[in-house]
This record gives sequence, structure tokens and C-alpha cells, in this order.
Amino acid sequence: MKTVLVTGGAGFIGSALVRMLIAEGRHRVVTVDKLTYAGHLESLSEVMEAPTNRFERVDICDAAALRRVFAECDPWAVIHLAAESHVDRSIDAPAPFIETNVVGTGTLLAESLRYWRSLALERARDFRFVHVSTDEVFGTLGATGVFDEESAYAPRSPYAASKAGADHLVRAWQHTYGLPTIVVHASNNYGPFQFPDKLVPHMIQLAIAGRSLPVYGDGRHVRDWLYVDDHARALQMVLEGGIVGGSYNVAGGNERTNREMVESICHAVDAQLPDPGIIDRRALMTSVPDRPGHDFRYALDTSRIRRELGWVPRVDLDDGLHQTVAWQLQHQAWVAAVQSGHYDGERLGLIDGR
Ligand code: NAD
Repeated sequence: MKTVLVTGGAGFIGSALVRMLIAEGRHRVVTVDKLTYAGHLESLSEVMEAPTNRFERVDICDAAALRRVFAECDPWAVIHLAAESHVDRSIDAPAPFIETNVVGTGTLLAESLRYWRSLALERARDFRFVHVSTDEVFGTLGATGVFDEESAYAPRSPYAASKAGADHLVRAWQHTYGLPTIVVHASNNYGPFQFPDKLVPHMIQLAIAGRSLPVYGDGRHVRDWLYVDDHARALQMVLEGGIVGGSYNVAGGNERTNREMVESICHAVDAQLPDPGIIDRRALMTSVPDRPGHDFRYALDTSRIRRELGWVPRVDLDDGLHQTVAWQLQHQAWVAAVQSGHYDGERLGLIDGR
């Protein structure tokens, strides 16, 4: 059984990937995670006791700790998801984004390279480093057009710039040292176990509570939504069949304006938690000041991963939202536990309160 080292495995997407890999039973998994406000062992509770599961509370900026984990676990591959991931938080405090996303990725690459060079030829040839990036590194689009894997980088938020920096380091380690890396650019994810400061879980929580639903600006910004399990499956397919040195776009093919997305959430909550006092939760929607520098639209051409690896998204957006609402209604204790002491629903990412 080969071992996969997953960084950020206690976060939203990472924990979906770890749960999937352990459930499939073909790999051992070592999760490396610092457990920031966004990382929670509760998200891994269903696999914690599995003999194929191991957890290491380690910061990816800590080279010595990473070296120990590589030596003890002897991984076949690394899937790198650990990151500071919230655009609004990057506006409030960019430093941790530069530290984890740029310096941490550089540290992880250096330790991966050191380990890779110690492997026998056959093992070294087989090794993979899959780096999880975002569509946001390409910048913003107008009403039409899509980014493909060859699109130029033009990041515009501190988060996107820090992820772009990480991507460039990953490519440089492949070109310069030959480390077998692959980059994945994913669109906006949603699904169970997402920290409730992100749009979808935040709106679901507010809708459940019957509180006002704050939509940034005119609500016409467009994102392409991807169900988290579809993303996890794409990462596994890239790990097992992706071309070294290449990159793959992954998106759900579900472009929605933020306003449409919140309306769909309202429908899903109305259906599962009828409130006689609020017949239609869309009445709770209200416009609030826009995010500074808010990118208008992201969209990805996913034909490469479909053609080369046969990946297609399986979860329809309305079904996925319905499942996500159902999950949140059943996991209010998880939501309360992860928010406790970290986040009480306040607005993030406004410069000087503007
Ligand atoms: P998340 O914020 O839910 O989880 C991040 C995880 O990384 C947490 O468990 C956190 O504890 C851990 N972490 C943070 N700093 C660390 C450090 N210095 N050392 C070790 N662990 C650390 O993020 P997510 O939404 O699951 O995103 C995972 C990855 O996917 C990120 O790289 C993100 O940029 C990328 N991505 C996310 C989306 C999305 O919509 N969520 C879309 C495209 C790409």
C-alpha cells in the first residue's frame, strides 16, 4: 500500500480528500496540518481510528518537522492543500498568506526535493507532488471568455498573489530540479465541512437563523461552483494519471452570480426548514459594500482533464446545495465547535471599515 502525504488535510477540501482516500482503502494517508482556525480534527473524526490514517500536527514552514515526517512515513506522493484560503482575510492581514502560501510552499518543496533525491531510481520516477491552486491566479474575466491552463497569470488579491507565488515555485522546482510536480487550478468549492466564513456555509447559517443575508455590491459577480467531492476525485485522478510538469483546470461547469447562488441557498433552506414567519428567505437578502478589488468573474476551460483523464463532475449544483444544507442542519454541533473562539459571523475584508 502506497502512502500519500496530504498537507492541509484537516481543512475543507483536504479532509474530503483524506476521507475519500481512506474509504477507498488503496492508500495509507498521512495528514500534515497546523490546525489553524480553518483546520479541525472533527472533520477527520470518521477516519481517525483507521489503521491507514496518521495525523501530524506540523506547520509546513517548519523544515525540520517536515523532514521527520518524510523520513518516518516514506510517502509515494504529496498532495499539497495547506494554505491560508480566504480572500477577505487576505485583505485584512496578508502576512500569514505570504508566510504559509509562499514560504511554506517553498519549504515543503525543498523538503520534498531532499526526500525525492534520497529515493532509489524506480521510486523517484514514481513520486508525485500535486499542488492545489486556484482559478484566481489568472485574474478576472468580463462577461465572456474562459481561462485555460496556458492563460497568463494576473492575480489581483493578496490571496491570489500568494497562490500564484506558490505555483511559480512549484513550476520552478519541476523545471530546475526535475521534481515530478503537477498543478491543479480549481474553481470555487462548496460542500460539507467548509469553514463558515465562506459564502455558501455563511449564507446557509444566516438563512437557518432567519438573519439578514449580506450580498457584496450588486451581487452580479460570477463564480463557477464545484462540489468538493468532485474536486477530491479530480485530485486523485491527477495524482494517478496526470502528466508531470503539466497543469489541469477543474470546475463544476456551474456559473452563477453571487445573487443567484444566495437565492438557490434560500430555496434549499426554505424546503428543508420551513419557517412560517419567513415564507421566502430571499426577502432576507440585502446589499452591503462590495469587497475591495472584487474580481468580476472566473471561468475555467476544463477540456484537458476531461479529455486526458476522463474526469467529469458528477454532482449537479442544486443537488449539491441541497445536500450541503442538509449536512449543515445535521451538523450544527460541528459548525458551533469550529466557529468557537475563531469567528462569530462578522464582516471580513473591508479596508478601514469601508
Ligand atoms: P481551508 O482553509 O479549509 O483549509 C486549509 C487547511 O490548511 C487547514 O486545515 C489549515 O489548518 C491548514 N494550514 C494552514 N496553514 C498551514 C500551515 N502553515 N501548515 C500546515 N497546515 C496549514 O482551505 P480549503 O478551502 O480546503 O482549500 C484547500 C486548498 O485548495 C488551498 O490551497 C486553496 O488555496 C485551494 N483552493 C480552494 C478553493 C475553495 O473554493 N475552497 C478553490 C480553489 C483552490
